[in-house]
Amino acid sequence: MIQQKVRVWTVRELMKFAIDHLEKLGFEETRLTVELLLSHALGCQRIQLYTSFDKPLTKEELARFRSLYERRLVHEPVQYIVGSSNFMGLQLRVDPAALIPRPETETLVEQVMLLCKESEENEEISIIELGSGSGNIAIALAKFVKNAAVVSVDNSPDAIELARENAVSCKVDSRIDFRLIDMFEPVDQLLLKRFDILVSNPPYISKEDWEGLSTEVKRYEPRSALTDFKDGYECHQRIIELAPYLLRNNGAVFVEVGYGQSKEVGTMMRKSGFSDVYSVPDLQGVQRVVKGTCPSNVRSFVNNN
Ligand code: GLN
Repeated sequence: MIQQKVRVWTVRELMKFAIDHLEKLGFEETRLTVELLLSHALGCQRIQLYTSFDKPLTKEELARFRSLYERRLVHEPVQYIVGSSNFMGLQLRVDPAALIPRPETETLVEQVMLLCKESEENEEISIIELGSGSGNIAIALAKFVKNAAVVSVDNSPDAIELARENAVSCKVDSRIDFRLIDMFEPVDQLLLKRFDILVSNPPYISKEDWEGLSTEVKRYEPRSALTDFKDGYECHQRIIELAPYLLRNNGAVFVEVGYGQSKEVGTMMRKSGFSDVYSVPDLQGVQRVVKGTCPSNVRSFVNNN
Protein backbone atom coordinates (compact mmCIF):
# COMPACT_ATOMS: atom_id res chain seq x y z
CA MET A 1 0.00 0.00 0.00
CA ILE A 2 1.35 3.42 -0.90
CA GLN A 3 1.40 5.75 2.07
CA GLN A 4 0.72 9.30 0.99
CA LYS A 5 3.09 11.61 2.77
CA VAL A 6 1.26 14.45 4.46
CA ARG A 7 3.33 17.51 5.11
CA VAL A 8 3.62 18.49 8.75
CA TRP A 9 3.71 22.23 9.34
CA THR A 10 5.16 23.96 12.35
CA VAL A 11 3.72 27.25 13.56
CA ARG A 12 6.80 29.03 12.22
CA GLU A 13 6.61 27.46 8.77
CA LEU A 14 2.91 28.01 8.38
CA MET A 15 3.16 31.63 9.45
CA LYS A 16 5.95 32.33 7.02
CA PHE A 17 4.12 30.61 4.19
CA ALA A 18 0.84 32.45 4.82
CA ILE A 19 2.49 35.86 5.29
CA ASP A 20 4.46 35.52 2.04
CA HIS A 21 1.39 34.31 0.21
CA LEU A 22 -0.83 37.19 1.39
CA GLU A 23 1.98 39.62 0.63
CA LYS A 24 2.24 38.34 -2.92
CA LEU A 25 -1.49 38.75 -3.38
CA GLY A 26 -1.27 42.39 -2.29
CA PHE A 27 -2.95 42.14 1.12
CA GLU A 28 -1.99 44.58 3.86
CA GLU A 29 -1.11 43.92 7.52
CA THR A 30 -0.19 40.38 6.58
CA ARG A 31 1.64 39.40 9.78
CA LEU A 32 -1.14 40.69 12.02
CA THR A 33 -3.72 38.90 9.90
CA VAL A 34 -1.92 35.59 10.11
CA GLU A 35 -1.33 35.99 13.85
CA LEU A 36 -5.02 36.68 14.44
CA LEU A 37 -6.24 33.82 12.26
CA LEU A 38 -3.77 31.25 13.52
CA SER A 39 -4.20 32.10 17.19
CA HIS A 40 -7.96 31.89 16.66
CA ALA A 41 -7.60 28.48 15.00
CA LEU A 42 -5.40 27.22 17.83
CA GLY A 43 -7.45 28.84 20.57
CA CYS A 44 -4.44 30.64 22.00
CA GLN A 45 -3.13 34.18 22.53
CA ARG A 46 -1.14 35.81 19.73
CA ILE A 47 1.99 35.89 21.86
CA GLN A 48 1.77 32.12 22.38
CA LEU A 49 2.41 31.58 18.68
CA TYR A 50 5.93 32.83 19.25
CA THR A 51 6.50 30.70 22.30
CA SER A 52 5.41 27.58 20.40
CA PHE A 53 7.10 28.41 17.13
CA ASP A 54 8.36 24.89 16.50
CA LYS A 55 5.18 23.11 17.49
CA PRO A 56 3.84 20.90 14.69
CA LEU A 57 0.17 21.51 13.91
CA THR A 58 -2.30 18.65 14.05
CA LYS A 59 -4.43 17.86 11.01
CA GLU A 60 -7.44 19.41 12.73
CA GLU A 61 -5.60 22.61 13.61
CA LEU A 62 -4.37 22.95 10.07
CA ALA A 63 -7.88 22.40 8.69
CA ARG A 64 -9.29 25.01 11.07
CA PHE A 65 -6.68 27.54 9.99
CA ARG A 66 -7.25 26.78 6.33
CA SER A 67 -10.97 27.46 6.50
CA LEU A 68 -10.37 30.82 8.22
CA TYR A 69 -7.59 31.67 5.80
CA GLU A 70 -9.75 30.94 2.78
CA ARG A 71 -12.32 33.43 4.04
CA ARG A 72 -9.63 36.10 4.21
CA LEU A 73 -8.51 35.25 0.66
CA VAL A 74 -11.93 36.33 -0.60
CA HIS A 75 -11.51 39.60 1.34
CA GLU A 76 -13.67 39.02 4.38
CA PRO A 77 -12.37 41.36 7.12
CA VAL A 78 -10.28 39.57 9.75
CA GLN A 79 -12.47 40.97 12.53
CA TYR A 80 -15.56 39.25 11.13
CA ILE A 81 -13.65 36.00 10.63
CA VAL A 82 -12.49 35.86 14.24
CA GLY A 83 -15.69 37.57 15.46
CA SER A 84 -14.05 40.24 17.56
CA SER A 85 -12.39 43.61 17.44
CA ASN A 86 -10.58 45.90 19.83
CA PHE A 87 -11.81 49.40 20.54
CA MET A 88 -10.03 51.53 23.14
CA GLY A 89 -8.72 48.38 24.77
CA LEU A 90 -12.17 46.79 24.95
CA GLN A 91 -12.70 43.44 23.28
CA LEU A 92 -16.00 43.58 21.40
CA ARG A 93 -17.87 40.94 19.46
CA VAL A 94 -18.46 41.98 15.86
CA ASP A 95 -20.55 40.52 13.08
CA PRO A 96 -21.91 41.85 9.80
CA ALA A 97 -24.89 43.38 11.65
CA ALA A 98 -22.65 46.31 12.54
CA LEU A 99 -19.65 48.25 11.38
CA ILE A 100 -16.22 47.13 12.60
CA PRO A 101 -15.15 49.88 15.04
CA ARG A 102 -12.48 52.13 13.51
CA PRO A 103 -9.45 53.55 15.32
CA GLU A 104 -10.38 57.10 14.24
CA THR A 105 -13.63 56.79 16.21
CA GLU A 106 -11.49 56.67 19.36
CA THR A 107 -10.81 60.38 18.75
CA LEU A 108 -14.56 61.02 18.92
CA VAL A 109 -14.86 59.19 22.24
CA GLU A 110 -11.79 60.95 23.64
CA GLN A 111 -13.29 64.35 22.85
CA VAL A 112 -16.48 63.47 24.72
CA MET A 113 -14.39 62.19 27.62
CA LEU A 114 -12.47 65.46 27.78
CA LEU A 115 -15.67 67.44 28.20
CA CYS A 116 -16.99 65.00 30.79
CA LYS A 117 -13.83 65.49 32.84
CA GLU A 118 -14.88 69.09 33.43
CA SER A 119 -18.03 68.04 35.26
CA GLU A 120 -18.40 67.35 38.97
CA GLU A 121 -17.68 63.72 39.76
CA ASN A 122 -20.94 63.16 41.60
CA GLU A 123 -23.06 64.78 38.92
CA GLU A 124 -24.62 62.45 36.37
CA ILE A 125 -23.79 63.20 32.76
CA SER A 126 -26.52 62.10 30.40
CA ILE A 127 -25.41 61.14 26.92
CA ILE A 128 -27.43 60.18 23.87
CA GLU A 129 -25.80 58.34 21.00
CA LEU A 130 -27.38 58.14 17.56
CA GLY A 131 -26.22 54.96 15.77
CA SER A 132 -25.11 52.26 18.23
CA GLY A 133 -23.55 49.83 15.77
CA SER A 134 -21.56 47.30 17.80
CA GLY A 135 -22.06 49.51 20.86
CA ASN A 136 -18.42 50.63 20.83
CA ILE A 137 -18.97 54.33 21.55
CA ALA A 138 -21.65 53.91 24.21
CA ILE A 139 -19.70 51.12 25.92
CA ALA A 140 -16.39 53.02 25.93
CA LEU A 141 -18.13 56.09 27.39
CA ALA A 142 -19.89 54.07 30.07
CA LYS A 143 -16.64 52.33 30.88
CA PHE A 144 -14.37 55.37 31.03
CA VAL A 145 -16.75 58.07 32.29
CA LYS A 146 -17.87 56.83 35.68
CA ASN A 147 -20.75 59.31 36.02
CA ALA A 148 -22.16 58.79 32.52
CA ALA A 149 -25.66 57.49 31.85
CA VAL A 150 -26.02 56.57 28.20
CA VAL A 151 -28.98 56.10 25.88
CA SER A 152 -27.94 54.69 22.52
CA VAL A 153 -30.29 54.19 19.58
CA ASP A 154 -30.02 52.35 16.29
CA ASN A 155 -32.52 51.44 13.59
CA SER A 156 -31.19 47.89 13.20
CA PRO A 157 -32.54 45.20 15.57
CA ASP A 158 -29.49 43.03 14.92
CA ALA A 159 -27.10 45.86 15.79
CA ILE A 160 -29.01 46.58 19.01
CA GLU A 161 -28.82 42.92 19.99
CA LEU A 162 -25.07 42.84 19.34
CA ALA A 163 -24.51 46.11 21.22
CA ARG A 164 -26.46 44.81 24.23
CA GLU A 165 -24.41 41.64 24.25
CA ASN A 166 -21.18 43.65 24.16
CA ALA A 167 -22.38 45.88 27.00
CA VAL A 168 -23.01 42.77 29.10
CA SER A 169 -19.57 41.32 28.38
CA CYS A 170 -17.95 44.68 29.21
CA LYS A 171 -20.06 44.88 32.39
CA VAL A 172 -21.66 48.24 31.63
CA ASP A 173 -25.13 47.03 30.64
CA SER A 174 -26.77 48.63 33.68
CA ARG A 175 -25.54 52.05 32.55
CA ILE A 176 -26.62 51.93 28.90
CA ASP A 177 -30.15 51.91 27.58
CA PHE A 178 -30.02 50.60 23.99
CA ARG A 179 -33.16 51.32 22.02
CA LEU A 180 -34.45 50.38 18.61
CA ILE A 181 -35.24 53.81 17.17
CA ASP A 182 -34.80 55.30 13.72
CA MET A 183 -33.49 58.84 14.02
CA PHE A 184 -35.32 59.81 10.84
CA GLU A 185 -38.67 58.94 12.41
CA PRO A 186 -40.69 61.74 14.03
CA VAL A 187 -38.84 63.35 16.88
CA ASP A 188 -41.27 62.47 19.68
CA GLN A 189 -40.02 58.89 19.70
CA LEU A 190 -36.61 60.13 20.73
CA LEU A 191 -37.84 62.43 23.47
CA LEU A 192 -36.96 60.38 26.45
CA LYS A 193 -35.42 63.24 28.40
CA ARG A 194 -32.98 66.14 27.94
CA PHE A 195 -29.37 65.15 27.55
CA ASP A 196 -26.09 66.92 28.26
CA ILE A 197 -24.26 65.46 25.28
CA LEU A 198 -25.20 64.06 21.87
CA VAL A 199 -22.61 61.90 20.14
CA SER A 200 -22.72 60.14 16.79
CA ASN A 201 -20.60 58.42 14.20
CA PRO A 202 -23.24 58.43 11.48
CA PRO A 203 -23.12 56.92 7.99
CA TYR A 204 -21.27 59.72 6.19
CA ILE A 205 -19.92 58.21 3.00
CA SER A 206 -21.61 59.55 -0.11
CA LYS A 207 -23.26 57.17 -2.56
CA GLU A 208 -20.56 58.04 -5.05
CA ASP A 209 -17.62 57.41 -2.69
CA TRP A 210 -19.15 54.14 -1.50
CA GLU A 211 -18.55 52.67 -4.96
CA GLY A 212 -14.82 53.22 -4.56
CA LEU A 213 -14.44 51.46 -1.19
CA SER A 214 -12.48 48.24 -0.76
CA THR A 215 -14.07 44.82 -1.29
CA GLU A 216 -13.66 44.22 2.46
CA VAL A 217 -16.00 47.09 3.24
CA LYS A 218 -18.38 46.88 0.30
CA ARG A 219 -19.02 43.18 0.34
CA TYR A 220 -19.10 42.56 4.09
CA GLU A 221 -19.94 45.62 6.18
CA PRO A 222 -23.54 46.86 6.48
CA ARG A 223 -24.09 49.41 3.75
CA SER A 224 -26.64 51.42 5.71
CA ALA A 225 -24.10 51.99 8.50
CA LEU A 226 -21.64 53.49 6.02
CA THR A 227 -23.56 55.58 3.52
CA ASP A 228 -26.68 57.71 3.44
CA PHE A 229 -27.03 56.76 -0.24
CA LYS A 230 -26.94 60.50 -0.97
CA ASP A 231 -24.27 63.20 -0.56
CA GLY A 232 -22.89 62.00 2.79
CA TYR A 233 -24.38 64.86 4.85
CA GLU A 234 -27.97 63.64 5.38
CA CYS A 235 -27.33 62.26 8.85
CA HIS A 236 -25.28 65.23 10.06
CA GLN A 237 -28.12 67.47 8.90
CA ARG A 238 -30.65 65.39 10.81
CA ILE A 239 -28.49 65.32 13.94
CA ILE A 240 -28.15 69.10 13.88
CA GLU A 241 -31.91 69.41 13.41
CA LEU A 242 -32.61 67.02 16.31
CA ALA A 243 -30.08 68.40 18.79
CA PRO A 244 -32.24 71.30 20.08
CA TYR A 245 -35.01 68.80 20.87
CA LEU A 246 -32.76 66.36 22.63
CA LEU A 247 -30.31 68.50 24.54
CA ARG A 248 -30.62 70.78 27.53
CA ASN A 249 -29.55 74.43 27.20
CA ASN A 250 -26.01 74.64 25.87
CA GLY A 251 -25.70 70.90 25.48
CA ALA A 252 -22.81 69.65 23.34
CA VAL A 253 -22.87 67.81 20.03
CA PHE A 254 -19.95 65.67 18.87
CA VAL A 255 -20.09 64.09 15.43
CA GLU A 256 -17.59 62.11 13.43
CA VAL A 257 -17.05 63.27 9.85
CA GLY A 258 -15.34 61.88 6.77
CA TYR A 259 -12.26 63.21 5.01
CA GLY A 260 -12.93 66.75 3.82
CA GLN A 261 -16.35 67.09 5.50
CA SER A 262 -15.45 69.04 8.65
CA LYS A 263 -15.81 72.54 7.13
CA GLU A 264 -19.23 71.84 5.69
CA VAL A 265 -20.52 70.25 8.89
CA GLY A 266 -19.15 73.19 10.89
CA THR A 267 -20.97 75.58 8.57
CA MET A 268 -24.17 73.58 8.93
CA MET A 269 -23.90 73.88 12.73
CA ARG A 270 -23.22 77.63 12.67
CA LYS A 271 -26.14 78.21 10.32
CA SER A 272 -28.37 76.44 12.81
CA GLY A 273 -27.22 78.74 15.62
CA PHE A 274 -24.62 76.49 17.24
CA SER A 275 -21.77 78.24 19.01
CA ASP A 276 -18.22 77.21 19.94
CA VAL A 277 -17.93 75.13 16.76
CA TYR A 278 -14.55 73.51 16.09
CA SER A 279 -13.05 70.38 14.64
CA VAL A 280 -10.42 67.99 15.95
CA PRO A 281 -8.01 65.85 13.91
CA ASP A 282 -7.53 62.11 14.34
CA LEU A 283 -4.11 60.49 14.67
CA GLN A 284 -3.67 60.57 10.88
CA GLY A 285 -4.17 64.35 10.90
CA VAL A 286 -7.61 64.18 9.25
CA GLN A 287 -10.19 66.58 10.73
CA ARG A 288 -12.41 63.88 12.16
CA VAL A 289 -14.64 65.26 14.89
CA VAL A 290 -16.82 68.35 14.79
CA LYS A 291 -18.06 69.76 18.07
CA GLY A 292 -20.69 72.42 18.59
CA THR A 293 -22.71 73.85 21.44
CA CYS A 294 -26.42 73.65 20.86
CA PRO A 295 -28.38 76.90 20.71
CA SER A 296 -29.79 77.82 24.10
CA ASN A 297 -33.36 78.12 22.88
CA VAL A 298 -34.09 74.43 23.29
CA ARG A 299 -37.14 73.38 21.35
CA SER A 300 -40.02 71.35 22.60
CA PHE A 301 -41.84 68.85 20.56
CA VAL A 302 -45.49 69.87 20.38
CA ASN A 303 -47.76 66.92 20.45
CA ASN A 304 -50.49 67.48 17.91
CA ASN A 305 -52.85 64.83 19.24
N1 GLN B 1 -21.19 53.55 16.80
C1 GLN B 1 -20.80 52.71 15.74
C2 GLN B 1 -19.37 53.02 15.34
O1 GLN B 1 -18.87 54.07 15.56
C3 GLN B 1 -21.76 52.75 14.59
C4 GLN B 1 -21.40 53.63 13.46
C5 GLN B 1 -22.37 53.47 12.30
O2 GLN B 1 -23.16 52.54 12.23
N2 GLN B 1 -22.30 54.41 11.40
O3 GLN B 1 -18.68 52.20 14.80
